[in-house]
Amino acid sequence: MPHSPIIVAIDGYSSCGKSTIAKALAKHAGYTYVDTGAMYRATALYAQRAGLTNDLLQIIPLLKNIQISFIQTPDGQHVTLNGEDVESHIRTLEVGELASQISTIKEVRAFLVAQQQAMGEKKGIVMDGRDIGTVVFPQAELKLFLTASPEVRAKRRFLELQAKGENPNLEEVLRATNERDYRDTHRAESPLRQAEDAIVVDNSEMTREEQMEHIINVFSEHCATI
Ligand code: C5P
Repeated sequence: MPHSPIIVAIDGYSSCGKSTIAKALAKHAGYTYVDTGAMYRATALYAQRAGLTNDLLQIIPLLKNIQISFIQTPDGQHVTLNGEDVESHIRTLEVGELASQISTIKEVRAFLVAQQQAMGEKKGIVMDGRDIGTVVFPQAELKLFLTASPEVRAKRRFLELQAKGENPNLEEVLRATNERDYRDTHRAESPLRQAEDAIVVDNSEMTREEQMEHIINVFSEHCATI
């Protein structure tokens, strides 16, 4: 018998393959996928375009002007900012850094968390981020915490940026990865941490296929018990 839909919360460090896994699991389960990092990135892009890079707190009174949603394209799910498809603008190293900075602002988090919670009202959702199992959906039926070593993650990010035509420097990407980890785990507001009831998956040594198989098994076993 098909199980009743659940909420799957996937958290973890940057570039540890959360979105690939979350997307594939959502497809497997017939669930909606929500990339919360894209929402922080779109907010950061808004701030960048508004010239607020040096004083991000100025974003607070402007949050009411920001509309973020997701659309399906032949190329997969894209994020939109006030109706504009900004997918290709938000994946740069620069916007990633700015997203990490802007995500430390309490009002920004409250603004985005409320939208994320509304998206999960009907369940049947796979959401990835940093605080999904701890803050957005502490009641999520299944929580996964993905990790991989900083070196492995920096290498993955480096290859991704290269594939996009950027010209990254591996040491610079590793430095940015470590900085982002530090900021994500040490900020006052909803720092990245593993929920006590999360299942940890260290994928440093796993291929994408091995991870997928493992996670689909975890999901199926979990659903069989509820
Ligand atoms: O996952 P991604 O690298 O796209 O996220 C960009 C930044 O947004 C992260 O470095 C993190 O600081 C922030 N973020 C967050 N909470 C989330 C998702 C992302 O603080 N739920």
